[in-house]
Amino acid sequence: MTPPASHTAPFAFDNTFAREMEGFYVHARPASARSPRLVAFNRELAEELGLDADALDSEAGARLFAGAELSDGATPLAQVYAGHQFGGFAPQLGDGRALLLGEVIDKSGARCDVQLKGSGRTTFSRGGDGLASLGPVLREYLVAEAMHALGIPTTRALAVATTGEWVQRETTLPGAVLTRTAASHIRVGTFQYFAACREPAKVKQLADYVIARHYPELERTGDVYFALFEAVRDRQATLIAKWMHVGFIHGVMNTDNVAISGETIDYGPCAFMDRYDPETVFSSIDAHGRYAYENQPRLAAWNLARFAETLIPLFDGDGDRAVERATDAVRDFVDRYEAHWLAGMRAKLGLTTEQPGDLGLGQDFLAAMQARNVDFTLAFRHLAEAATGQTEPIRTLFGGKPEIDRWLSAWKKRLADEPADAPARAAAMRRVSPAFVPRNHRVEEALDAAVKRADFAPFQKLLSIVLRPFEDQPEHADFAEPAPLGGPPYRTFCGT
Ligand code: AMP
Ligand code: MG
Repeated sequence: MTPPASHTAPFAFDNTFAREMEGFYVHARPASARSPRLVAFNRELAEELGLDADALDSEAGARLFAGAELSDGATPLAQVYAGHQFGGFAPQLGDGRALLLGEVIDKSGARCDVQLKGSGRTTFSRGGDGLASLGPVLREYLVAEAMHALGIPTTRALAVATTGEWVQRETTLPGAVLTRTAASHIRVGTFQYFAACREPAKVKQLADYVIARHYPELERTGDVYFALFEAVRDRQATLIAKWMHVGFIHGVMNTDNVAISGETIDYGPCAFMDRYDPETVFSSIDAHGRYAYENQPRLAAWNLARFAETLIPLFDGDGDRAVERATDAVRDFVDRYEAHWLAGMRAKLGLTTEQPGDLGLGQDFLAAMQARNVDFTLAFRHLAEAATGQTEPIRTLFGGKPEIDRWLSAWKKRLADEPADAPARAAAMRRVSPAFVPRNHRVEEALDAAVKRADFAPFQKLLSIVLRPFEDQPEHADFAEPAPLGGPPYRTFCGT
């Protein structure tokens, strides 16, 4: 007798959230998908997750990634959360177009959520159809993976499958599902939901789950919920500084889009800034510039204050004292953020030692960029060349103006106090200032080809370039260039 073929589920799901957090979600099923097709698959990530990449890169994989079939062990559920959207409180949002399938343990031992996004209606869909169209799903894939390659904490993109269904937006568009992974999908808004429902026991239960999952080092700390607040604050301070150093604009920093793990989450109308202007806004729904580039640190602090409000009842000390401590802890965000920002800026300027004038030197460089409408990414990349004496590219970029020459001589003077290894300095600068980010016009080209012509070659090409952001890639020099001047202002739309 031949033994039965061994059957291993494609995902070895564990389901701690489903098991331990009843009341924090509702069960749901993915919508039907007539003809699933796998259009993007992240082999490298699949392997990191310990999955069988060959088995998933297949028709069977397409059915799983489109939500047409469920892996054994999946317990699809929609998480509930609330959130401040553009400053106004929405008491119930929740996963209106996403389903958590379960958790997998990656090769490093870390627990990751696996979530389908665009997989149909749930209890929390309100007026929405629960679906996603191909363009925004590919944008999230591309930008999330670019962010990861840039060394910025982020949710990851595992796969995109088109469903064969149509999605009605302003026009009729191909439907698609993104499979993403995250340290978890717990947000500031998750805490806000239970705080607003006046369920302190649930807030505490959520905090305990978060500590065990994301901050286990705090478990034996006294005043552990205060320590949790500080830890989340510090991860946000690092994260936002990293965004600022690559010119990333999230676009919708609502409290429901702030992950407690410290990962960048929910890529909607996000974009990278090209010409340096701190007031840059790309999102069509951000009419007042609330989430403009320069406002991101301040808004992160505002979001953290909303998080602190949910935890205050759990802090040690009486009410007034707890509020006072929370206020001080939120205020400390600014110092921490500024310290990370300055450390990152020093690295971008090629500085390994610290001098009091370094902040001013960095700010002056940005001011010179702004005055001359200079591309943010190119300016720092050309500065690395200037570190080995090739100053022509940066001088040309700034239009050969006296300001840049003045700035370059101040910089060179400062470098005289640094260890004198110029090639090492230039190499270090190239490791922190990318040559390639997903430039808006390239992203549009790639998405357009995929959506309008089912041609995924431009998407794959752009992806492969932004996955190696710090390498020169002379064969793709045109992808390092900004869009030609004179085009219409770039606009992004919410990822629906
Ligand atoms: P986001 O802008 O992606 O952060 O989403 C904000 C809220 O709107 C979340 O609760 C989403 O689940 C919900 N949402 C966004 N688009 C849709 C859609 N097409 N159908 C149902 N819910 C949606
Ligand atoms: Mg969201």
